[in-house]
Amino acid sequence: MMPEENEARTVRQDMIALLQTEACSLRDISQALHISEKEAGDHLAHIRRSLSTTRQVLRIHPATCRACDFVFRERQRFSRPGRCPRCRATRISLPRFFIRSG
Ligand SMILES: [Zn+2]
Repeated sequence: MMPEENEARTVRQDMIALLQTEACSLRDISQALHISEKEAGDHLAHIRRSLSTTRQVLRIHPATCRACDFVFRERQRFSRPGRCPRCRATRISLPRFFIRSG
């Protein structure tokens, strides 16, 4: 196994352990595991795929608009939306992710 792949595997194990404990945004994950938010998003996508063969699932507390409380329920992407479709405000909370048994 390549060393890089080994390292990625360890990061993902740490991320799974973290998300089993508490709901985290990509920013929370990047700070906890000392990786970039982009890397956190890439690992999260991998985790979401790999969890599909287990009894656990990746759940999302969706991003919400801080101005009008619009909830971005349909959004599957991990990043923060740029603008609220209802009131056009840009103060949007970060989506947060957690892992629960299916
Ligand atoms: Zn809004």
